[in-house]
Amino acid sequence: MPTTMQTPLKRTLPIANRAFFSSLAPAADIIAPPPQLPPFDHQPRPYNGPSTDEVLAKRKTFLAPSLLHYYQKPVNIVEGKMQYLFDESGRRYLDAFAGIVTVSCGHCHPQVLDAIIEQSKLLQHTTTIYLNHAIADYAEALASKMPGNLKVVYFLNSGSEANELAMLMARLYTGNLGMISLRNAYHGGSSGALGLTAVNTWKYPIPEGNVHHVMNPDPYRGVFGADALSYAKDVEDHIDYGTSGKVAGFIAETIQGVGGAVELAPGYLKLVYDIVHKAGGVCISDEVQTGFGRTGSHYWGFETQGVIPDIVTMAKGIGNGLPLGAVVTTPEIASVMTQKLQLNTFGGNPVCSAGGLAVLRVLDKEKRQAHCAHVGSHLLDRLRSLMQRHDIIGNVRGRGLMVGVELVTDRKEKTPAKAETAVLFEKLRELGVLVGKGGLHGNVFRIKPPMCFTEDDADFLVDALDYAITKL
Ligand code: PMP
Repeated sequence: MPTTMQTPLKRTLPIANRAFFSSLAPAADIIAPPPQLPPFDHQPRPYNGPSTDEVLAKRKTFLAPSLLHYYQKPVNIVEGKMQYLFDESGRRYLDAFAGIVTVSCGHCHPQVLDAIIEQSKLLQHTTTIYLNHAIADYAEALASKMPGNLKVVYFLNSGSEANELAMLMARLYTGNLGMISLRNAYHGGSSGALGLTAVNTWKYPIPEGNVHHVMNPDPYRGVFGADALSYAKDVEDHIDYGTSGKVAGFIAETIQGVGGAVELAPGYLKLVYDIVHKAGGVCISDEVQTGFGRTGSHYWGFETQGVIPDIVTMAKGIGNGLPLGAVVTTPEIASVMTQKLQLNTFGGNPVCSAGGLAVLRVLDKEKRQAHCAHVGSHLLDRLRSLMQRHDIIGNVRGRGLMVGVELVTDRKEKTPAKAETAVLFEKLRELGVLVGKGGLHGNVFRIKPPMCFTEDDADFLVDALDYAITKL
């Protein structure tokens, strides 16, 4: 039988106090008990479904062997409420990964659920060959969030589809073939999107025609540090010598998600957008993870670099869990698609459109962008103080609620602390926090919770990390 919600226990010593006490006694002596989750008023439903072992056995037999699962003892998640998840026993976890940044407003947000349920009762599906107001209302609302002349919306079902369409548009509009993407990027799992996803990082040595992977402007690990100009020169060289001076498009995330919350060197996109435009190409911003206010300082990630792309792709948080993706572009670029047949059976279906519209409204009503700025800066401050106490933390980076913590065994050499990261990852789960793990070397904790994540949640997460590292 599931247990009831965990009762709040007293918090651990604040970091400042711990630092004082740790000067008097060995750290391990004063750290018990482990930090406790902040209180939360929700009683999960009793769960009578298959057990963890049964689900795992079925997955092994009937699902693709390539499906990975996190944790040596996998978690069987059966319910979600806002920033928390519940396993089969009713145990509550802080979700600091939001199903890879997919849940924006919070798990099962009541207003989003209502919109989906009401629309499902009325009409679940009609393709765009008939009229329905839901898709039109939603496109209008989404376009109103975009700067410049980004006013035409295409709806699809995923981020991969969105990036495929963006690449197709870039090629059709410019008449060029060459695409440029960054190493350490992730743009999707379909054939074309995998091509944009840098092969050397993501282990798919299948050449997808005419994609050039340029140096990653990673201020922490990149060869040129934060020198945006040198990285931009690499793009210029690829265009001059790799694509004969002409290019179809350039695509980048503004903070690399799967790559480990890597924020591009300041000023990089402005320089590169100019180079790409001069070579006849268009610039695509992949906002699948960074959009909708998550960065706190801005609604869209590209705004953090002071640019306006020609095409923007979105997915994940746009639907708070619904299979939904979008491409937004200018009327001029969109016009090339009128020469082609562009049909997506489920893209913009009434249920996803109603849900997507509700997501936009909830994020506005609950002022989630400002909330991400506030809680994100608290989280970053606390993580940076933790870094002063633990040498294993080599880098803390990110914006708002899109944060990366990179672990190293040697700060100077930046040697990836792969094994330690794996141990801490398990330990965090035991303590009740689910984070993501990523980066080229698998040594980065990716912290990207639902946007309703609170300051108390941030404190709990940092205390849990502190506790786990001290016990390492
Ligand atoms: N772009 C980015 C930045 C992503 O993180 C992802 C998914 N991790 C995708 C595209 C692909 O999205 P999907 O899995 O919905 O196809």
